[in-house]
Order: sequence, then C-alpha cells, then structure tokens
Amino acid sequence: MLYESTRGNYRRVSAAEAIKLGIAPDGGLFVPCDRVVIDSKKLQDMVKLDYRERAYLILKEYLDDYTEDEIRECLKLAYNTENFASPAIAPVHRLNDGLYLLELWHGPTCAFKDMALQILPHLLTRAAVKTGEKSTIVILVATSGDTGKAALEGFKNVPGARIIVFYPEQGVSQIQKLQMITQEGNNVGVVAVRGNFDDAQSGVKKIFADEDFNLELQKANYRFSSANSINWGRLAPQIVYYFSAYLDLAAKNVIAPGEKINFAVPTGNFGNILAAYYAREMGLPVHRLICAANTNNVLTDFIRTGIYNRSRPFVKTISPSMDILISSNLERLLYHLTGRDHSRVSRWMSELNKTGSYQVDEQSKNKIGEILWSGYADDQETLETIKSVHQRYGYIVDTHTAVGLKVYEKYTGATGDSAKTIVASTASPFKFNESVVKAILGDQAVRGKNELELLQVLETASGADIPPGLKDLDRKPVRHQTITDKDSMAEVVRDMLLG
Ligand SMILES: *Cc1c(COP(=O)(O)O)cnc(C)c1O
Repeated sequence: MLYESTRGNYRRVSAAEAIKLGIAPDGGLFVPCDRVVIDSKKLQDMVKLDYRERAYLILKEYLDDYTEDEIRECLKLAYNTENFASPAIAPVHRLNDGLYLLELWHGPTCAFKDMALQILPHLLTRAAVKTGEKSTIVILVATSGDTGKAALEGFKNVPGARIIVFYPEQGVSQIQKLQMITQEGNNVGVVAVRGNFDDAQSGVKKIFADEDFNLELQKANYRFSSANSINWGRLAPQIVYYFSAYLDLAAKNVIAPGEKINFAVPTGNFGNILAAYYAREMGLPVHRLICAANTNNVLTDFIRTGIYNRSRPFVKTISPSMDILISSNLERLLYHLTGRDHSRVSRWMSELNKTGSYQVDEQSKNKIGEILWSGYADDQETLETIKSVHQRYGYIVDTHTAVGLKVYEKYTGATGDSAKTIVASTASPFKFNESVVKAILGDQAVRGKNELELLQVLETASGADIPPGLKDLDRKPVRHQTITDKDSMAEVVRDMLLG
C-alpha cells in the first residue's frame, strides 16, 4: 500500500515513511492510495477472533511494508491487560436493545487517545529502522492536558525513542498536572511553560522549524518527530475498534449478518470519526455516521451548509477535548469525497488559512450529507444527559460521551431512523469528574472539593473503582519539576538531550 499527500505535491511513500514523516512535506496529509475491502465472508470469519487478531487482519492491509511479526509484536506490546483494564480492550456496553456504547477508555490515561498512542510508538520506532534511520527519535509534544499524558504513557521506555512534553503551567487541571509530573520512564521529559497552551505550541513549532538546532541534534544522533493526530499511524489503529464493536454485536446475535448500524462519535479534530468513515468504506455495514459537536459547532454547520467557518468565538466547554475550531483530519474526508481532487482540496485549505472559511461545491456537500449527519449539544444539555442516562440505565458517562448520546437523540428525533447505534464513549467519567458529579449529585456535592476528593465521591456514587491511572496520584513521587520561559524551550531540550 502506498500513501499520497492530499495536496498532491509530494511523492508516494510507504506506510513506514508516512508514519515517520507524520505530516506530508507539502503541508498535506497522507492517505492510502488504494481502497482496502473486507468482504462479508472475511467479516464473518473475524467474529470469533479477539481484539488483537482482528486488529492484525485490518492493519496488515494498510501496513504491508511491515512483516507479520512486526505487526503482531506492536499489537502485543500495545493491547495487553497490563495497559488496558479490560481484557476486551474496547468492550461494548448495552444501554438498551437499540443503543450501545463503545468504551474506548480502558487504557492507561482513561481516554480514547490511548487506543492509538499505545501502539503508535512501536509502529514509529520500527518505521524509523525500516527507512534507514539511525538516530534516536525525539517526540516533542505541546499539550493542553490529555494528549501529553497519553503520549508519555505510549512512549515511556520504548527503545529508540525519547519524548519531551511541554504543558502550560497554569493551563491544565490538577489531575492532568499530577499525571504528568509523576510520569515514570527512562526516556521521558515533562516541562512546565510559563504561558498558555498557544505559547507552548508555538515554542514546539519553532523548535521543529529551527534548522541549525535540528542539524546540531542530528550530529548527536537525534531526530525530532511528532505524534499528533494527523499521523496515519494514529488513524489506522482507530479503524480497528469500529470493526471490533460491530463484530462483538454480531457475535452476540444482536445484529444479523450484513445488518447496517450507525456510529455516533463525539468529535473534535475529526480523527476518531474519520476512522469510522474508513471502516465504512472498507465494507463494514454502516448506515450513518453521526458527528457530535459541542458548542464549538463548526462541523455541524459545515455538514449542514457546506460552509466551513472558523471565524467565531472559541468557547471553553465541559467537554474540553472537543473544543477545536480547526478539524485537521477533515481534509482527508474531502480528498476522498472529491475523488482525490488535490487541487480543489488545496484551494479550500488555503482559503481557510487566508480567510478563515471555505465553501465546498454542491456535489461534495451532498455526498457528505449522505454519509454524515451532525448536531451539537451545549453544556446544559450535556449535564442533563449524564443525569438522565444515570437515572434510566444506572450507568455513568463522561461529558464527551454525553454529547454523543444527546446528539444521537437529536438524530433519531430529526430522522426517525431506528437502526441500532453505537456511540463512541471517549473518556472515563472519572477523568472529568467535576462535571459528572455535579450532574448526578448536584452543585452542592462539588462545592469546596478538589478533583482528587471528587474521585472518591464518584467512586462511592458509581460503585465502580477509581481507574488505576487516576488512583493515588497524590502519593506518587514528583519526578519532573523543570519550568521554563516560552523563549527558552529549545535550551531545555538541548540540556535534556545533550546534557
Ligand atoms: C480527543 C478526544 C475527542 C475528539 O476526538 P477527535 O479525534 O479529535 O475528533 C473526544 N473525546 C475525548 C475524550 C478526547 O480525548
């Protein structure tokens, strides 16, 4: 399988090269050149397999420059019961006969990013070796909270890789900060930046672009790379759980062979739902993809009108991982739906860059509407949904998952579609405990309590255990205390790598 850039100005590359490069050097995103098809016979054969076996059959189609052993090794290192609190890895939970939740948060940091970031480091270090790279890969991450911790957990102790994460000193939650400053591993660095998330992110971008610094490090056998969500090595592993969820329902005879279902996905950067799109293109019987947004509803407007307009106020919501105004992975969908028209895609992306908006043609808009439906839920609706789901089903969802459930409800109201639906559950309720406790126990239950105390409150209220990744955080030794001005981030990197 070869990969090409959505902007059309770079040569075709192997999977290993695409994963090593991350973003295409012409500014585009790498997409597979050919369609992979899993036919109904193959699908039927996969029903009896476990998560890792299903993952193997899907990944080998996309990563055909990796050997069978390499893929199996990566899968074994990622999806095991040391890293995941559920042996099913991504289990499906039934709410009622028509509605199911795909729990994507049993990994070490309790959110869906783990599904990709547990395997990406292994794919990436092998990609480096396969492409003749002799240097140690140094991953730099700027994080507003969740991605940094998930990347640290994925890359810790991985041979051939180092990772340095920058977070805004005042810009992350108490739990997120504790998770990062107590990070274990012999190849990790965690640094607080005096400034906000944008300062940290610009600092990292500057380091990537600093040619002299890159040369200096190359002489010492280091090469920078990134682990962000546009890397094909993060997207491909996400396709697997859509297949696996479908197969789990088939195994229980909840769905008949070939029966079409919907997926509803709480969406930010469009990575998770794009993986569902690839699954559908591969032949998984999927009717509609329901794209759920919060008040930052750029995608809802886009899917309904064909106009993408990022020029609007950025709203901080209680589903912060979806607070995004530029959904980078949408570019891949546009590329496929225009029949791989890189000139149209390039034009739209450059308009977005210059003017803050673009409008797709009528035909593309209609194609999007055939596959996707979108709605959004505000914070009030999100809290009400957590409460009503708890009352109705005795099950507690986090804020992002609640957005997905609310938008699914709006979808059935608007369309009358009664196909069985799986909502992607993207985080453990313990991770966003303040809003969750407020929703089920009321304002007074959170008053005067910090996030660590609220973990206990939620444990008592839910009857579920605090997940291992969030437990005893205040008792772990602090291992990372470096703090830097935003202008000295490169110095910190130099110190850490060259000593
Ligand atoms: C990242 C994230 C999302 C959004 O996923 P995208 O792939 O960016 O669309 C939703 N929920 C949670 C909890 C997340 O961490």
